[in-house]
Parts: sequence; C-alpha cells; structure tokens
Amino acid sequence: MKTNVIEYKKCIICTSNEPKIVYSWKKNYYNPDKYETCSWDARYNLAFNIVRCKKCKHMYTYPSIKKEFLSNVYPQDLINNNVKPSELKSDKKFLPIINIISKYKDSKNDLIVDIGTRYGTLPYMLRQMDNDSLGRKLYRKKWYYYQSAAHMHYFDRRSLENLLKKYGYKIILIQKPSFFRNIQLFFRQIFMKKRTVKFNNGKFHYLNERKKLRDIYTYIVVKE
Ligand SMILES: [Zn+2]
Repeated sequence: MKTNVIEYKKCIICTSNEPKIVYSWKKNYYNPDKYETCSWDARYNLAFNIVRCKKCKHMYTYPSIKKEFLSNVYPQDLINNNVKPSELKSDKKFLPIINIISKYKDSKNDLIVDIGTRYGTLPYMLRQMDNDSLGRKLYRKKWYYYQSAAHMHYFDRRSLENLLKKYGYKIILIQKPSFFRNIQLFFRQIFMKKRTVKFNNGKFHYLNERKKLRDIYTYIVVKE
C-alpha cells in the first residue's frame, strides 16, 4: 500500500532527472501517536527528501505523493469548512490579498479562479513561499515551509519566474516581504513562548514547533 502512494518525478522546470538530496526525514520523524501528520506524510508513515535538481537548481519534495492520494494531505475531518466568506473579508491574513485583487481586477472578466487548498482565497494571484528567503537561510532544515507532503515545490524567484514564462504568464506585480520587519520578527521569536495548538482529534500540530519569518512573495500574473 505505502509504496503505491508515492512516485519519483523528474524536475518540473527542466525535466532532467538528476536530483541531489539536500535534506532527509526518516519515517515517523513526527511520531504519529503524538502529532497529526496528514500534511507531513498524509498519514502514510513515509520517509521523504528535499532534493535540488543538479541542472537547474530547483528544489522539490522527493518522492512525492501521487495525485490520487493528495486529498489525504488536507483531510476533510481536520479542516474547518464552516468559514464564511464574509468573515474572511475582514481577516487580517486575507484583507491585503483582497485589496490587491480589487485593484487589479479586470472589469471585463470577473471570473476569479482559486487554485490551491483550504479556504479559497488566492484568486488569479500566486502566493509562494520563497526558497531564497531570509527565514529559509536562517532556519534551514527546520524552516516552517518545509512540509514534505503538503509542499511539493520550493521556488525561488528565478525558478518561479522561469516556470511562469514557460507557460505564458506575464508578471504584473511582485510584493516582497520587508527585510527590516523580518529582522524584528526574528528577534521577537527568540523570546516568544511556544504556542500549543491541537487538532480536534487531540493530536499536536507539529508546525507550532517551527519558526518562520515572512517568507512569502505575492505575484499577480496574467496569461498572455
Ligand atoms: Zn531542473
């Protein structure tokens, strides 16, 4: 069963098949009796690597979970589906995104498509954790965004922009996190108490043991 859920994919940027291991995590890296591991290994008790393509330097999870099993990474029993869109409008996490979309919205075409998971708040815009960010450089293997099953690709500006170009997207806007804000956050986190969050099945959320800075770039792109 377990061997059937994974696959060994070529690099999506350059299609070469020369992955070099950068980080490795053994099976049960997060004890499944203590931690909810759905977004880590889809509860399949898998070992993962993060690799770097020798040719184009793109980093990705290796192996990856096959498409037909990806729903186990975000299982319905753990996701709160009672979130109301009207409430999200005033949520400080989503408000900046909604403001950007309102500014760039094409009045001739109001269709907005969200490609992603959870609530559906990333319309025709791409938010991407930056693999060249300050947080990644400081926290390395313990970087918040390294989540084997849930995050399959770790783009930096170069690899993401190559991919966008390859599929005919034009970049309208790039929003970068503030370097000085990140330095403030870094020092604040040293003294911050650990938050304990549990899922509704009583298991701990491993992400609370990880540190993060604002390591996300926001892109607005249009298909040319
Ligand atoms: Zn490559």
